[in-house]
Amino acid sequence: MSVTDELLANNEAFAASLPDRHLGVQPSRRLAIVTCMDSRLDVFAALGLGDGEAHVLRNAGGVITDDVIRSLAISQRRLGTREVMLIHHTDCGMQTLTDDGFRAELLEASGIAPAFAIESFTDVDADVRQSILRVRRSNFLLDRDHVRGFVYDVDTHRLREVDAGSDA
Ligand SMILES: [Zn+2]
Repeated sequence: MSVTDELLANNEAFAASLPDRHLGVQPSRRLAIVTCMDSRLDVFAALGLGDGEAHVLRNAGGVITDDVIRSLAISQRRLGTREVMLIHHTDCGMQTLTDDGFRAELLEASGIAPAFAIESFTDVDADVRQSILRVRRSNFLLDRDHVRGFVYDVDTHRLREVDAGSDA
């Protein structure tokens, strides 16, 4: 039995334990969160969020890529969100590689240089500040004023806010 099969069985039990319900497609807290795919960060539990309350966009590093901007544009323009929380974290896998090294590894393994940026980082606070700037400077978004960035400590479970500095 694969892990996926185990999870399908879990879902049967989960669905059977709850009454049917319908929540609106627009997040009730009008919030979008961009964070890392890290398996130790349970976004809903860590922030006291419930189903239907926020969009959660995840990728390796919580990087503001074009695809994240695409999702944020839809989130704000069609689904009513107005605040953005960016959450990086301690002990991130993106700090274990370099752009050049990983790019070379992919090229070596596949014969094709990746078209995407790797977006590794060493200084987590600096990367949060960069991410805030990318959101603030995207003309595709409706609300770029309510963007805050944080680092989640995977050991203490605490969020620490990163001062974005004045950008204006
Ligand atoms: Zn990470």
